[in-house]
Amino acid sequence: MSLPDIVPELKARLPELRGRLLANQPLGEFTWFRVGGPAQAFFMPEDENDLAYFLRNLPADLPVTAIGAGSNLIVRDGGVPGVTIRLGRGFNDVKIESDCVTAGSAMLDAMVSRAAQKAGIAGLAFLSGIPGTIGGALRMNGGAYGAETKDVLIEARGVDRQGNLRTYSNSQMRFSYRHCGVPEDVIFTSATFQGRAGDPAEIAAEMAAIKSKRETSQPRNRTGGSTFKNPPGMSAWKLVDEAGCRGLKVGQAQVSDLHSNFLISLDGATAADIETLGETVRARVKEKSGIDLEWEIKRIGITR
Ligand SMILES: Cc1cc2nc3c(=O)[nH]c(=O)nc-3n(C[C@H](O)[C@H](O)[C@H](O)COP(=O)(O)OP(=O)(O)OC[C@H]3O[C@@H](n4cnc5c(N)ncnc54)[C@H](O)[C@@H]3O)c2cc1C
Repeated sequence: MSLPDIVPELKARLPELRGRLLANQPLGEFTWFRVGGPAQAFFMPEDENDLAYFLRNLPADLPVTAIGAGSNLIVRDGGVPGVTIRLGRGFNDVKIESDCVTAGSAMLDAMVSRAAQKAGIAGLAFLSGIPGTIGGALRMNGGAYGAETKDVLIEARGVDRQGNLRTYSNSQMRFSYRHCGVPEDVIFTSATFQGRAGDPAEIAAEMAAIKSKRETSQPRNRTGGSTFKNPPGMSAWKLVDEAGCRGLKVGQAQVSDLHSNFLISLDGATAADIETLGETVRARVKEKSGIDLEWEIKRIGITR
Protein backbone atom coordinates (compact mmCIF):
# COMPACT_ATOMS: atom_id res chain seq x y z
CA MET A 1 0.00 0.00 0.00
CA SER A 2 1.51 3.35 -0.99
CA LEU A 3 1.48 6.41 1.24
CA PRO A 4 -1.08 9.08 0.28
CA ASP A 5 0.12 11.83 -2.05
CA ILE A 6 0.56 14.98 0.04
CA VAL A 7 2.54 16.92 -2.55
CA PRO A 8 -0.31 18.88 -4.23
CA GLU A 9 -1.46 20.13 -0.83
CA LEU A 10 2.09 21.09 0.14
CA LYS A 11 2.65 22.93 -3.15
CA ALA A 12 -0.53 24.92 -2.62
CA ARG A 13 0.65 25.84 0.86
CA LEU A 14 4.17 26.81 -0.28
CA PRO A 15 3.75 29.11 -3.31
CA GLU A 16 7.27 30.59 -3.01
CA LEU A 17 9.07 27.26 -2.95
CA ARG A 18 11.97 27.12 -5.42
CA GLY A 19 13.35 23.62 -4.88
CA ARG A 20 11.95 20.37 -6.30
CA LEU A 21 9.17 18.64 -4.41
CA LEU A 22 8.17 15.17 -5.63
CA ALA A 23 5.70 12.52 -4.55
CA ASN A 24 6.62 8.87 -4.08
CA GLN A 25 10.28 9.23 -5.02
CA PRO A 26 12.02 5.82 -4.73
CA LEU A 27 14.84 6.19 -2.20
CA GLY A 28 16.77 2.96 -2.80
CA GLU A 29 18.75 4.60 -5.60
CA PHE A 30 20.09 7.17 -3.11
CA THR A 31 21.47 4.53 -0.75
CA TRP A 32 24.51 2.30 -0.86
CA PHE A 33 22.38 -0.78 -0.18
CA ARG A 34 20.19 0.11 -3.19
CA VAL A 35 17.02 -1.09 -1.50
CA GLY A 36 13.99 0.48 0.16
CA GLY A 37 10.65 2.11 -0.49
CA PRO A 38 9.71 5.63 -1.60
CA ALA A 39 9.57 8.96 0.21
CA GLN A 40 5.97 10.09 0.70
CA ALA A 41 7.27 13.54 -0.27
CA PHE A 42 10.83 14.25 -1.39
CA PHE A 43 12.29 17.75 -1.26
CA MET A 44 15.52 19.08 -2.73
CA PRO A 45 15.90 22.70 -1.61
CA GLU A 46 17.59 25.28 -3.85
CA ASP A 47 19.50 26.81 -0.95
CA GLU A 48 19.38 27.46 2.78
CA ASN A 49 16.65 30.12 2.55
CA ASP A 50 14.46 27.82 0.48
CA LEU A 51 14.93 25.08 3.08
CA ALA A 52 14.05 27.49 5.90
CA TYR A 53 10.92 28.67 4.05
CA PHE A 54 9.87 25.07 3.49
CA LEU A 55 10.31 23.98 7.11
CA ARG A 56 8.70 27.14 8.50
CA ASN A 57 5.54 26.56 6.47
CA LEU A 58 5.30 22.79 6.66
CA PRO A 59 2.48 21.40 8.85
CA ALA A 60 4.05 20.93 12.29
CA ASP A 61 2.98 17.29 12.60
CA LEU A 62 4.68 16.14 9.37
CA PRO A 63 7.87 14.19 10.07
CA VAL A 64 11.06 15.34 8.38
CA THR A 65 14.04 13.06 7.59
CA ALA A 66 17.37 14.07 6.03
CA ILE A 67 19.40 11.80 3.82
CA GLY A 68 22.93 12.36 2.55
CA ALA A 69 24.82 9.87 0.41
CA GLY A 70 22.88 7.01 2.02
CA SER A 71 26.07 5.24 3.08
CA ASN A 72 24.85 4.56 6.59
CA LEU A 73 21.22 3.98 5.87
CA ILE A 74 18.58 1.28 5.51
CA VAL A 75 15.37 2.66 4.00
CA ARG A 76 12.62 0.23 4.95
CA ASP A 77 10.50 -1.31 2.18
CA GLY A 78 7.25 0.49 3.07
CA GLY A 79 8.84 3.90 2.44
CA VAL A 80 9.33 6.99 4.56
CA PRO A 81 6.24 8.89 5.79
CA GLY A 82 6.38 12.68 5.74
CA VAL A 83 9.10 14.58 3.93
CA THR A 84 12.55 13.27 3.08
CA ILE A 85 15.05 16.04 2.37
CA ARG A 86 18.18 15.64 0.27
CA LEU A 87 20.54 18.57 -0.20
CA GLY A 88 22.07 19.12 -3.62
CA ARG A 89 23.85 21.74 -5.71
CA GLY A 90 23.03 24.70 -3.46
CA PHE A 91 24.94 23.07 -0.60
CA ASN A 92 28.03 22.01 -2.48
CA ASP A 93 30.56 24.79 -1.99
CA VAL A 94 33.88 24.69 -0.19
CA LYS A 95 35.72 27.74 1.14
CA ILE A 96 39.22 27.89 2.57
CA GLU A 97 40.33 30.65 4.91
CA SER A 98 43.71 30.35 6.55
CA ASP A 99 43.68 26.83 8.11
CA CYS A 100 39.89 26.58 8.22
CA VAL A 101 37.65 24.79 5.74
CA THR A 102 33.94 25.60 5.39
CA ALA A 103 31.93 23.10 3.35
CA GLY A 104 28.30 22.73 2.33
CA SER A 105 26.55 19.70 3.79
CA ALA A 106 25.98 18.02 0.43
CA MET A 107 29.73 17.91 -0.26
CA LEU A 108 31.25 14.46 -0.13
CA ASP A 109 33.70 14.08 2.75
CA ALA A 110 36.32 12.88 0.28
CA MET A 111 36.06 16.09 -1.76
CA VAL A 112 36.42 18.27 1.32
CA SER A 113 39.41 16.24 2.39
CA ARG A 114 40.95 16.63 -1.09
CA ALA A 115 40.34 20.41 -1.10
CA ALA A 116 42.09 20.69 2.27
CA GLN A 117 45.02 18.60 1.04
CA LYS A 118 45.46 20.77 -2.05
CA ALA A 119 45.45 23.89 0.13
CA GLY A 120 48.09 22.38 2.44
CA ILE A 121 45.71 21.91 5.37
CA ALA A 122 46.36 18.83 7.48
CA GLY A 123 43.95 17.19 9.94
CA LEU A 124 41.11 16.32 7.54
CA ALA A 125 42.70 13.33 5.78
CA PHE A 126 40.59 10.91 7.85
CA LEU A 127 37.50 12.18 5.99
CA SER A 128 38.92 10.92 2.69
CA GLY A 129 37.89 7.33 3.37
CA ILE A 130 34.36 7.97 4.64
CA PRO A 131 31.96 7.69 1.71
CA GLY A 132 29.31 10.08 3.04
CA THR A 133 28.48 13.78 2.91
CA ILE A 134 29.38 16.48 5.41
CA GLY A 135 25.75 16.38 6.66
CA GLY A 136 26.14 12.67 7.43
CA ALA A 137 29.54 13.24 9.08
CA LEU A 138 27.97 15.83 11.38
CA ARG A 139 24.99 13.64 12.30
CA MET A 140 27.10 10.50 12.77
CA ASN A 141 30.24 12.11 14.20
CA GLY A 142 31.93 10.19 11.39
CA GLY A 143 35.47 9.10 12.06
CA ALA A 144 38.24 6.72 11.11
CA TYR A 145 41.79 5.82 12.04
CA GLY A 146 41.83 7.66 15.34
CA ALA A 147 40.13 10.93 14.32
CA GLU A 148 36.49 11.94 14.20
CA THR A 149 34.39 14.92 13.19
CA LYS A 150 34.21 16.28 16.72
CA ASP A 151 38.02 16.66 16.79
CA VAL A 152 38.01 19.18 13.93
CA LEU A 153 34.60 20.86 13.92
CA ILE A 154 34.47 24.54 14.85
CA GLU A 155 30.77 25.02 14.14
CA ALA A 156 27.91 23.68 12.07
CA ARG A 157 25.02 25.57 10.51
CA GLY A 158 21.57 24.11 10.20
CA VAL A 159 17.86 24.77 9.91
CA ASP A 160 15.61 23.54 12.70
CA ARG A 161 12.14 22.02 12.25
CA GLN A 162 10.53 25.44 12.78
CA GLY A 163 12.58 26.90 9.93
CA ASN A 164 15.04 28.91 12.05
CA LEU A 165 18.65 29.21 10.88
CA ARG A 166 20.86 27.94 13.68
CA THR A 167 24.57 27.77 14.41
CA TYR A 168 25.88 25.00 16.66
CA SER A 169 29.28 25.25 18.31
CA ASN A 170 31.28 22.05 18.76
CA SER A 171 30.03 21.64 22.34
CA GLN A 172 26.41 22.36 21.33
CA MET A 173 26.63 19.42 18.91
CA ARG A 174 26.88 17.13 21.98
CA PHE A 175 28.97 14.62 20.06
CA SER A 176 29.68 11.13 21.30
CA TYR A 177 30.78 7.96 19.49
CA ARG A 178 28.94 7.96 16.11
CA HIS A 179 26.30 10.27 17.56
CA CYS A 180 25.33 13.93 17.65
CA GLY A 181 22.90 15.23 20.27
CA VAL A 182 21.22 17.92 18.12
CA PRO A 183 17.52 17.05 17.49
CA GLU A 184 17.13 14.51 14.66
CA ASP A 185 14.95 16.86 12.57
CA VAL A 186 17.59 19.60 12.33
CA ILE A 187 19.00 19.69 8.79
CA PHE A 188 22.67 20.63 8.74
CA THR A 189 23.59 22.94 5.87
CA SER A 190 27.33 23.56 6.31
CA ALA A 191 30.26 23.08 8.64
CA THR A 192 33.53 24.82 9.43
CA PHE A 193 36.52 22.69 10.32
CA GLN A 194 39.81 23.61 11.91
CA GLY A 195 42.87 22.17 10.21
CA ARG A 196 46.56 23.01 10.57
CA ALA A 197 49.30 23.91 8.14
CA GLY A 198 50.70 20.82 6.44
CA ASP A 199 52.65 19.65 3.43
CA PRO A 200 50.32 18.74 0.52
CA ALA A 201 52.55 15.80 -0.51
CA GLU A 202 52.58 14.36 3.00
CA ILE A 203 48.81 14.73 3.34
CA ALA A 204 48.36 13.06 -0.07
CA ALA A 205 50.51 10.14 1.11
CA GLU A 206 48.37 9.82 4.25
CA MET A 207 45.23 9.75 2.10
CA ALA A 208 46.72 7.12 -0.22
CA ALA A 209 47.58 4.92 2.78
CA ILE A 210 44.00 5.21 4.05
CA LYS A 211 42.68 4.28 0.61
CA SER A 212 44.81 1.17 0.24
CA LYS A 213 44.04 0.01 3.80
CA ARG A 214 40.32 0.25 3.06
CA GLU A 215 40.48 -1.43 -0.30
CA THR A 216 41.94 -4.58 1.23
CA SER A 217 39.80 -4.73 4.37
CA GLN A 218 36.30 -3.55 3.44
CA PRO A 219 33.69 -4.27 0.78
CA ARG A 220 32.98 -1.05 -1.16
CA ASN A 221 29.73 -2.04 -2.80
CA ARG A 222 26.09 -2.37 -1.67
CA THR A 223 26.89 -2.09 2.01
CA GLY A 224 26.21 0.35 4.82
CA GLY A 225 29.68 0.32 6.36
CA SER A 226 29.98 -0.74 10.00
CA THR A 227 26.63 -2.19 10.98
CA PHE A 228 27.08 -2.09 14.75
CA LYS A 229 28.94 0.26 17.07
CA ASN A 230 31.96 -1.16 18.85
CA PRO A 231 30.96 -1.82 22.47
CA PRO A 232 33.39 -0.12 24.89
CA GLY A 233 36.79 -1.85 24.71
CA MET A 234 35.58 -4.41 22.15
CA SER A 235 35.35 -4.83 18.38
CA ALA A 236 31.91 -5.52 16.96
CA TRP A 237 33.43 -7.55 14.08
CA LYS A 238 35.14 -9.92 16.53
CA LEU A 239 31.92 -10.51 18.45
CA VAL A 240 30.11 -11.20 15.16
CA ASP A 241 32.87 -13.63 14.14
CA GLU A 242 32.86 -15.41 17.50
CA ALA A 243 29.09 -15.88 17.15
CA GLY A 244 29.77 -17.70 13.87
CA CYS A 245 28.03 -15.11 11.70
CA ARG A 246 30.69 -14.32 9.07
CA GLY A 247 29.11 -15.10 5.70
CA LEU A 248 25.66 -15.69 7.28
CA LYS A 249 22.76 -15.17 4.83
CA VAL A 250 19.13 -14.17 5.33
CA GLY A 251 17.16 -13.94 2.10
CA GLN A 252 19.39 -11.94 -0.24
CA ALA A 253 21.37 -10.22 2.50
CA GLN A 254 24.71 -11.52 3.72
CA VAL A 255 27.33 -10.76 6.36
CA SER A 256 30.45 -9.88 4.37
CA ASP A 257 33.15 -12.54 4.16
CA LEU A 258 35.74 -9.75 4.02
CA HIS A 259 34.60 -7.76 7.09
CA SER A 260 32.12 -9.33 9.47
CA ASN A 261 30.71 -5.99 10.71
CA PHE A 262 29.59 -5.16 7.15
CA LEU A 263 26.32 -6.43 5.65
CA ILE A 264 25.89 -6.77 1.89
CA SER A 265 22.74 -6.60 -0.22
CA LEU A 266 22.83 -9.22 -2.96
CA ASP A 267 20.71 -9.02 -6.12
CA GLY A 268 17.02 -8.92 -5.25
CA ALA A 269 17.58 -8.10 -1.55
CA THR A 270 14.91 -6.21 0.36
CA ALA A 271 15.43 -3.87 3.29
CA ALA A 272 13.63 -6.49 5.40
CA ASP A 273 16.30 -9.07 4.44
CA ILE A 274 19.07 -6.72 5.58
CA GLU A 275 17.38 -5.66 8.81
CA THR A 276 16.39 -9.25 9.69
CA LEU A 277 19.96 -10.35 9.06
CA GLY A 278 21.21 -7.59 11.38
CA GLU A 279 18.73 -8.61 14.10
CA THR A 280 19.70 -12.29 13.66
CA VAL A 281 23.36 -11.35 14.17
CA ARG A 282 22.46 -9.31 17.27
CA ALA A 283 20.54 -12.26 18.75
CA ARG A 284 23.41 -14.68 18.08
CA VAL A 285 25.98 -12.33 19.58
CA LYS A 286 23.78 -11.85 22.63
CA GLU A 287 23.48 -15.62 23.02
CA LYS A 288 27.20 -16.23 22.56
CA SER A 289 28.73 -13.37 24.53
CA GLY A 290 25.85 -11.74 26.44
CA ILE A 291 26.53 -8.43 24.66
CA ASP A 292 23.83 -6.25 23.12
CA LEU A 293 25.19 -4.82 19.88
CA GLU A 294 23.81 -1.38 19.05
CA TRP A 295 23.01 -0.51 15.43
CA GLU A 296 25.31 2.13 13.95
CA ILE A 297 23.40 2.07 10.65
CA LYS A 298 20.32 4.29 10.75
CA ARG A 299 17.06 2.66 9.77
CA ILE A 300 14.30 4.92 8.51
CA GLY A 301 10.72 4.44 7.31
CA ILE A 302 8.17 1.70 7.78
CA THR A 303 8.07 -2.01 6.96
CA ARG A 304 5.82 -3.16 4.13
C1 LIG B 1 32.13 1.28 2.56
C2 LIG B 1 31.76 2.15 3.74
C3 LIG B 1 32.75 2.56 4.62
C4 LIG B 1 32.42 3.37 5.72
N1 LIG B 1 33.41 3.76 6.57
C5 LIG B 1 33.13 4.59 7.61
C6 LIG B 1 34.15 5.05 8.50
O1 LIG B 1 35.32 4.71 8.38
N2 LIG B 1 33.80 5.87 9.51
C7 LIG B 1 32.52 6.29 9.69
O2 LIG B 1 32.27 7.06 10.61
N3 LIG B 1 31.54 5.87 8.86
C8 LIG B 1 31.80 5.04 7.85
N4 LIG B 1 30.80 4.62 7.01
C9 LIG B 1 29.40 5.03 7.28
C10 LIG B 1 28.99 6.33 6.59
O3 LIG B 1 29.77 6.59 5.45
C11 LIG B 1 29.06 7.51 7.58
O4 LIG B 1 28.21 7.32 8.67
C12 LIG B 1 28.68 8.83 6.88
O5 LIG B 1 29.00 9.90 7.74
C13 LIG B 1 27.22 8.90 6.49
O6 LIG B 1 27.03 10.01 5.64
P1 LIG B 1 25.87 10.04 4.55
O7 LIG B 1 25.91 11.35 3.88
O8 LIG B 1 25.97 8.85 3.67
O9 LIG B 1 24.59 9.94 5.50
P2 LIG B 1 23.32 9.01 5.31
O10 LIG B 1 23.73 7.58 5.34
O11 LIG B 1 22.51 9.46 4.16
O12 LIG B 1 22.55 9.34 6.66
C14 LIG B 1 23.13 8.99 7.90
C15 LIG B 1 22.47 9.83 9.00
O13 LIG B 1 22.83 11.19 8.79
C16 LIG B 1 21.67 12.00 8.71
N5 LIG B 1 21.96 13.11 7.78
C17 LIG B 1 22.46 13.03 6.53
N6 LIG B 1 22.59 14.27 6.01
C18 LIG B 1 22.14 15.12 6.95
C19 LIG B 1 22.02 16.55 7.01
N7 LIG B 1 22.37 17.35 5.99
N8 LIG B 1 21.52 17.10 8.15
C20 LIG B 1 21.14 16.31 9.18
N9 LIG B 1 21.24 14.97 9.18
C21 LIG B 1 21.74 14.39 8.08
C22 LIG B 1 20.57 11.08 8.25
O14 LIG B 1 19.29 11.54 8.65
C23 LIG B 1 20.95 9.79 8.97
O15 LIG B 1 20.49 9.83 10.30
C24 LIG B 1 31.09 3.80 5.92
C25 LIG B 1 30.11 3.40 5.00
C26 LIG B 1 30.43 2.59 3.92
C27 LIG B 1 29.36 2.21 2.96
